[in-house]
Amino acid sequence: SEVLMSARGLRVDYAGRAGGRVRALRDVDLDIAEGETLGLVGESGCGKSTLGRALLRVVEPSAGRIDFLGTDLTRLRGRRLRRTRAELQMVFQDPFGSLNPRRTVADIVAEPLLRSRGASRAEAERTVAELLDLVGLGAEAGGRKPHEFSGGQRQRIGIARALSSSPRFVVADEAVSALDVSIQAQVLNLLSDLVRDRGLTMLFISHDLGVVRHIADRVAVMYLGEIIETAPRDDFFSGPAHPYSSALLASVPELRPGPPVERQPLEGELPDPADPPEGCLFRTRCPFATDLCRTRHPELREISPGRRVRCHLPLGPVPVSEDPQ
Ligand code: SF4
Ligand code: MG
Repeated sequence: SEVLMSARGLRVDYAGRAGGRVRALRDVDLDIAEGETLGLVGESGCGKSTLGRALLRVVEPSAGRIDFLGTDLTRLRGRRLRRTRAELQMVFQDPFGSLNPRRTVADIVAEPLLRSRGASRAEAERTVAELLDLVGLGAEAGGRKPHEFSGGQRQRIGIARALSSSPRFVVADEAVSALDVSIQAQVLNLLSDLVRDRGLTMLFISHDLGVVRHIADRVAVMYLGEIIETAPRDDFFSGPAHPYSSALLASVPELRPGPPVERQPLEGELPDPADPPEGCLFRTRCPFATDLCRTRHPELREISPGRRVRCHLPLGPVPVSEDPQ
């Protein structure tokens, strides 16, 4: 299918301590196909949220371009940016913190629609009632305040709000991480139904690999602001190609795909992002690092159809016959 959103050389720098600069996003190249759910994983602080926000132009990129429906988002300003924003929405982690407690649910849900499209009150009311039904709360929820709802219900309000401007692309950033496990499954199912029924494309950011396996079609892994692997979901979970991906999976026993000897747990500290290693950024923690890894920064290259990896020595697929189960 067609590429809906693509980033090229996308970079975000922050001012760090002592006047230095911290590169939060390092020249990210990423294509997201129309209708797919891309799961974005990595340890906290690796740049997942920064990437999601940069794609929505909530964070201003320092360099690079973002192609969305034939337009470079990084060049949009003013009214054109506002209109395009209707197509780009976000579902946040903390539904309570992201919802204004003094306003009614109907006002909260209608806001992106009123702001971006200048919809009439009557149109907004109709859309809000439909959306509250769609997310399973019922139209009558519109007259109430967010604090009257449980965490899972508030996340449904957040989802209805994100959908009110009829976006094409949604970033869900740790959207179920604050919820109980039983509620997580319900909200994940709601999200995947909405993606399918409304033809949405979603970047699903999560530190939780189990959740990503449930919802994503494809997985992208970040480390120190870089994409280090992208792969179809099943390929990724049955045999990650980057040593870091492998270590991430090894840290979740239920998901561990292969024989223990192939799977090294993650050791060592995350390097200071203001002072990253030369060569491969993962080499200070990689059990397979060689001299080459110390001097040469690996490119993100395609090693099999649909799979790209940033490693000089990618891991091979795990033979099915060696599966300990
Ligand atoms: Fe490890 Fe070298 Fe691959 Fe980096 S390039 S992940 S150090 S083997
Ligand atoms: Mg984050």
